Amino acid sequence: MHILLTNDDGVHAPGLFALLQALEVFAKVTIIAPAQNQSAAGHRKTLHKPLRLEPAKLSDGSPAWACSGAPSDCVALALLGFLKTKVDLVVSGINPHYNLGQDVTYSGTVTAALEAVQFGVPGIAVSTDHVLAADDYVQPAHIAAEVAQRLTHQPLPEGVVLSLNIPKTGARGWRLTRQGRRVYRDELVVREDPRGKPYYWIGGEWPTGIADEGTDIWAVEHGYASITPLDLDLTAHNAFEQLRHLE
Ligand code: MN
Repeated sequence: MHILLTNDDGVHAPGLFALLQALEVFAKVTIIAPAQNQSAAGHRKTLHKPLRLEPAKLSDGSPAWACSGAPSDCVALALLGFLKTKVDLVVSGINPHYNLGQDVTYSGTVTAALEAVQFGVPGIAVSTDHVLAADDYVQPAHIAAEVAQRLTHQPLPEGVVLSLNIPKTGARGWRLTRQGRRVYRDELVVREDPRGKPYYWIGGEWPTGIADEGTDIWAVEHGYASITPLDLDLTAHNAFEQLRHLE
């Protein structure tokens, strides 16, 4: 099995390294990840500037590629032909914070996995909760690797990506979930630069969420690892009835 490993926190992030160690037990792993932190990069396609790939080395000497683009660019470059060997699975992460509810279209971790399905390759995104130490990734990495290994026997439905959110202390089991509803608490912070011009930060408190049963938010709040199947079809099927008059 050949796995393309990427993330949105940058090629040298400890979450990627933990996942590499868990995946290379059973698979050949190629790493192409952003050179810089690209968290919340979204599903981006870089078209108006060149993309660069530089060789990099992880802390144990493992070879990797550091890419100037977004996580989704890393996957596109690889699958458009930079990698000469067929990729069987794209794994993205481990992100140091959960990607729940509406986080998924912002998340570089999740959108990297979503990019894989454009090429007919299955993808898995892996996130955990408020990591403080590199060791916190070890258990989520093993749990995620088990899922990746299981996919060698039971392939995903076409076009489907799995977003895994795994508690860092381990899980009571898996729950198959739908996206819950995040409650963002963003605030616009306005400051002034040394020349008297205003600049803006999106700041504020960490988001909370509504823990309805069956959602990703509910699962992790109750100590389960959450598997949310996602696809790129964002059609609001529930809205059709109410919008018939527009036809
Ligand atoms: Mn991140």
